[in-house]
Amino acid sequence: MTIDPTGAKALLQKDCPREAGAGEADGVGTEVPDDLRFEDIFILEDIQGLQDAFAAAAKVASLITDPDGRPLTRPSNFTTLCQDIIRATAKGRADCLHSDQSLGKACLAGPFIGTCLSAGLLDGATSIHFGDRHIANWLVGQVLDETMDTEAIVAYGRSIGADETAFRRALDQVPRMSRERFAKICQALDRFARHISALALGNHQQAQRIRELRQTRDRLGIRDRNLADIIDFLPDPTLVLDEDGTVIFWNRALEKLTGVAAVDMLGKSDFAYGTAFYGSPTPLLVDYARGAVSRPDPRYAVTEIGADAIIAEVTLLSLPGGDRQVWGKAVALRDGTGRIIGGIETIRDVTERHQADTALRESEEKFRRIVETAHEGVLVLDGDFKATFANRRMADMLGYAPDDMLGRHFEDFVADDHLPLAREREARLRQGESGVFEHRLKTREGGGLWALVSASPLYDVSGASLGALGMFTDITDRKRIEEELANHRHRLEAEVEERTRDLRLQAMELAEANIRMSELDRLKSAFLSTVSHELRTPLTSILGFAKLIGRDFTEQFLPLASGQAALEARGRRIADNLSVVFHEAERLTRLINDVLDLSRIESGSMHWRDRRIAPLDVLRTAARSIAGLLAARPEIVFVFDATEQVPDLFMDPDQLIQVVSNLLQNAVKFTRTGEVRMTVRTDGEAVQIVVADSGIGIPESELESIFGKFHQVGRGDTLSDAAKGTGLGLAICGQIVRHYGGRIWATSRLGQGSAFHVRLPCLAQEEGPARIPDAAKCAETP
Ligand code: ADP
Repeated sequence: MTIDPTGAKALLQKDCPREAGAGEADGVGTEVPDDLRFEDIFILEDIQGLQDAFAAAAKVASLITDPDGRPLTRPSNFTTLCQDIIRATAKGRADCLHSDQSLGKACLAGPFIGTCLSAGLLDGATSIHFGDRHIANWLVGQVLDETMDTEAIVAYGRSIGADETAFRRALDQVPRMSRERFAKICQALDRFARHISALALGNHQQAQRIRELRQTRDRLGIRDRNLADIIDFLPDPTLVLDEDGTVIFWNRALEKLTGVAAVDMLGKSDFAYGTAFYGSPTPLLVDYARGAVSRPDPRYAVTEIGADAIIAEVTLLSLPGGDRQVWGKAVALRDGTGRIIGGIETIRDVTERHQADTALRESEEKFRRIVETAHEGVLVLDGDFKATFANRRMADMLGYAPDDMLGRHFEDFVADDHLPLAREREARLRQGESGVFEHRLKTREGGGLWALVSASPLYDVSGASLGALGMFTDITDRKRIEEELANHRHRLEAEVEERTRDLRLQAMELAEANIRMSELDRLKSAFLSTVSHELRTPLTSILGFAKLIGRDFTEQFLPLASGQAALEARGRRIADNLSVVFHEAERLTRLINDVLDLSRIESGSMHWRDRRIAPLDVLRTAARSIAGLLAARPEIVFVFDATEQVPDLFMDPDQLIQVVSNLLQNAVKFTRTGEVRMTVRTDGEAVQIVVADSGIGIPESELESIFGKFHQVGRGDTLSDAAKGTGLGLAICGQIVRHYGGRIWATSRLGQGSAFHVRLPCLAQEEGPARIPDAAKCAETP
């Protein structure tokens, strides 16, 4: 509410802004002017409304008079009997006035009930006071007591000269009620009147106080009505004290903050206003500012203090809105001579700001901890690229204390050879370009280190450049390892180059050697074939003549020695020796043939007469070639086991015969008794020939080496001269089989037998249908 005493007229009372509490209406200390009349204090129209309403509700007549019985208001609810009949007569009017006067006198101490002098109707009254001065009476009545004798009233009507018929009719309309009910109405009226009296006095006192305030303000110079309004409407809670420490302003914002109305605080002094903040009278900042106390209350956190002014913050615990953090500023008010004439204090609720500050501080603290404990160095630069923040890691990295880095230009931290690069980065950052790059930095001691830098420009909320932020990771170790690796790689590359050079040289040498070897090989083959040819001619003669001499000797000369034991024995020895010459010459021929075959194959001069062949036909021919051998060895059974359909091969049939004959001869040669079996199978892709025997077997360690040249399994020479081999047969077999893309290998169990496997790839299907051998000829035994 405003504290403007000149505001609109309030109900009932002139010159008063509000209804005062009943307790204030005791008049103590209040000067009541003698000449003040009822109509000066109350608004008669308002009072009239109240009187009319009361009369209508209570069903009584009512009127307010001055202490002398003169009406102040218009009659309410008056009966026709009293108004128009009794008061119409002179006697009746005089009786009524007299009654009213005596009622007024009788009700000074409290409600009074009686009967009127005129018709004896029930009347009641109560008095209205202003302070201790009696200023009016409030009358009610014109009610017929139910127990009353109406004839006595009619008799009174006759006595004052009223028309009896009209009198009786009017009397019938007079309200009737019990005396008790009427008494209650009078009591209610009395309480009502007392309340109005108290109200009038309270408001008068208020008005008086406000007048005084106005005078005080006038003294303080706050005469300007606008200024008063300004203070009242200031958004910050504000109070003003005069030089005696009395509250002369308590604005709306302060009412809202404290929940205490201005009217209850205006005029309060002796630090009583502190109750609104602390629950008990307490000096405020303003009391310090105006010099009423020598030091501010210890609960204030003072941020600024001067001769006439003080700024502090404090937590208020007893405000209606709960705990609030407030900021207050108080200054002394001085008059033109410099004398203190009061003080003003403005308060600002900073709870939200405080909470926001606390949250911000906590958030900053959190981020500071994160930054401080970060493994990366963090450096913040201002617009001049000078350090404004460096975390511990950053400082450690460069050998500074964090504070030592502040204010230094970032170039202080850059290795000299990287300064041009750093300047280029700076220019880019200034253009708003972020980047991640590797940089060489310089420690405080001048040492160098490598860092991986992630740099970005910093802007304020308006987008203005604030500088830059950099995150630094020490990558010196990584760089060293990279360098070592690079060196290592270079060394390796050099070594590889050198080796490659050597290898190239060696390859060239090998190629040359190869050429020489090929030449030598060719020369060797040419030599061998020449030598073999030259050897074969005399050998043929030796063989022929040895055979001829042997036959002649045996047939012509040996019979001549018959009967002469010594000559006979000598003749047989000559025949045996001739036989040795013959066999050795035969063996030498085989050897020369084998050597010639092998050298032809190896030198590539072999003439392969390849053609489509039906393998079974060829194999049968090969089997027949050992028929003579088998005939001499009846203890050996030969089995030829062939599947019905064997695909064609594309090869020289003589070479196939040579391979298989060699294997069959070996099988017979190294088998005393038992079986030699040739098996022929196919899987569609190749023809597989196995020559197995039940002979002496081959040690496992020699299963591969027997395919080498001149390799013979070492065992006591138990073979006959005729069976002695050259050690070249299997080598030739291997060469032939490999020439046709096939494979040859041996399996064996010592003492139980051996098996030689030959696998030769078939002719592709599109090369023509295979000739299917005669089924009846399969599994035959020659
Ligand atoms: P050779 O003319 O000596 O038979 P080969 O090259 O044909 O020459 O055979 C080499 C050696 O392999 C033979 O001397 C023999 O020791 C061994 N060998 C070959 N076939 C058999 C076999 N069926 N049983 C046992 N040993 C064999």
